[in-house]
Amino acid sequence: MNQTETQRPDFDFENFTFGVQSTDRMLVAAYQKGEWSAYRISPVQAISLSPLAMCFHYGQTVFEGLKAFRMADGKINVFRMESHWKRMNRSLERMAMPPLPQDLFMEGIEELLKQESDWVIDDPEYSLYIRPFVIATEKKLGVDASQEYLFMVVLSPMRAYYNKPLKVKVETDYIRAARGGAGAAKNGGNYGASLLPQINAKKAGFDQIIWLDAKEKQFIEESGTMNILFILDGNRLVTPALSDSILDGITRDSLLKLAEEEGFSVEERPIAIEEICQRIENGERVEAFGAGTAAVISPIETISYNGKSYGTYLAADAGMYRLKNQLSSVRVGKHPDKYGWNHLLDT
Ligand SMILES: *Cc1c(COP(=O)(O)O)cnc(C)c1O
Repeated sequence: MNQTETQRPDFDFENFTFGVQSTDRMLVAAYQKGEWSAYRISPVQAISLSPLAMCFHYGQTVFEGLKAFRMADGKINVFRMESHWKRMNRSLERMAMPPLPQDLFMEGIEELLKQESDWVIDDPEYSLYIRPFVIATEKKLGVDASQEYLFMVVLSPMRAYYNKPLKVKVETDYIRAARGGAGAAKNGGNYGASLLPQINAKKAGFDQIIWLDAKEKQFIEESGTMNILFILDGNRLVTPALSDSILDGITRDSLLKLAEEEGFSVEERPIAIEEICQRIENGERVEAFGAGTAAVISPIETISYNGKSYGTYLAADAGMYRLKNQLSSVRVGKHPDKYGWNHLLDT
């Protein structure tokens, strides 16, 4: 082992911007001639690619986002690691990219985390964000599936911040993903295409957008890069059913399971934007929130649709806060892990 393992990294853990700083080491494996190489862990450094590398041209890039936590008992927990591996392979399949063997993904990330364990500090507000990704590296300008890839993992410190409730705008011009498209895959192109509408919404004074279905522009799909959920009447958790235009969020899935335990009824079904607006107009209690690994939940304060603003229920007794606390407690070992979500490293 080496000397950096015994000292706290030279980094201000209290005060930093997410995603700008990586830890000291990264993981790399290469795919060539139909096979993944063993992984290598090295200091974080620039990589060199040919300008002909296919990732620059035809969008074969896939990523994941998961987190490691320091448990109450000192162990390191990678939350729902296997689910993230499976989803990464579904994304890779959709983008005609080769799957990652389970050992390469899981053991590789475990080893990287062991070497970077000083970055998983014991602080309930802190987590280490794990960003695995695969890019096409074959040198070729013809449109085709690459025969060569790189799998890499970088780590970045993250702090839970108070998430100010969001003012969201229902996007009625642009769409995120259509049926038959690649919206269910975490591939780079989906995010590139979402930036312009997002920037426009910001300019108009909103924090985020709600995406509607591509065909009828009637049914709610997601909010920004999060899944969207609603709690009706304080006890009905309602969320759009998964489809190939909705990302199968692992936070969403976890919240649905915890909600059942907590006595909520759970409905996965089409949700028309009109239904939500109508309920709010009728004076019903409607909670709305985004769900994703980064923030767990992001409460929504107002929904603006066709120029009208609808206010949601945000009081301290809102069910979404209960679900968020429950999920956070499972991740650090303070609530029973009934589903085997915690992947503990033996350090
Ligand atoms: C990653 C992502 C989510 C949330 O997924 P989690 O597994 O909960 O982090 C939701 N929507 C989109 C578009 C995403 O990229």
